[in-house]
Amino acid sequence: MNIGILALQGAFREHSQMLRQLGVHVREVRLPADLVGLSGLILPGGESTTMTNLMTSYGFWEPLAAFAARGGAIWGTCAGAILLAQNIQGVSPHLGTQRSLGLLDMTIRRNAFGRQVDSFAVPLDVQGLEKPFPAVFIRAPIIESVGPEVEILARHDDQIVMVQQGRVMATSFHPELTGDTRLHQHFLGLVTAKAEVQA
Ligand code: GLN
Repeated sequence: MNIGILALQGAFREHSQMLRQLGVHVREVRLPADLVGLSGLILPGGESTTMTNLMTSYGFWEPLAAFAARGGAIWGTCAGAILLAQNIQGVSPHLGTQRSLGLLDMTIRRNAFGRQVDSFAVPLDVQGLEKPFPAVFIRAPIIESVGPEVEILARHDDQIVMVQQGRVMATSFHPELTGDTRLHQHFLGLVTAKAEVQA
């Protein structure tokens, strides 16, 4: 099983380390050609407008849509979750709209936890986990609403912070910044839930 991490910007090294700990073969994806042969892909946290601009520069939009269409599993964390949403709120007025992959039927609001609490950590109850997960939120987005096909896996203070729709999942927090590998293992389960994708 080969798992890729989009390595244009943000916290991709931490995801790589976590997956390597789990014995997974990891590839840092810097060009669309690096997607060939992968069965799962992580879109890391970072800064979503910067990542969006780099994705346009390197021609990633169409290859990523094709990767999802051929059954590749995708997990977006924080900025990566923003890239997956069908609808993005909280975009700077001078930008107008922000392009996204639109693979998750949800509306997400950038930087939604307020300026005074830009970063915090909480024990989070996640569906399917026996004990709370130490969730680190860094200028995190909130998932404001989801469509009928989307499963909600965690909420913090009534706000949706983890979802899954088919083979695509999103967390508005950063599981790669903790020592807890349970969500990476959950993602690997999603990847292997179906036969290997066609290269
Ligand atoms: N605030 C960032 C954005 O909107 C996301 C923050 C993060 O990934 N930690 O892109």
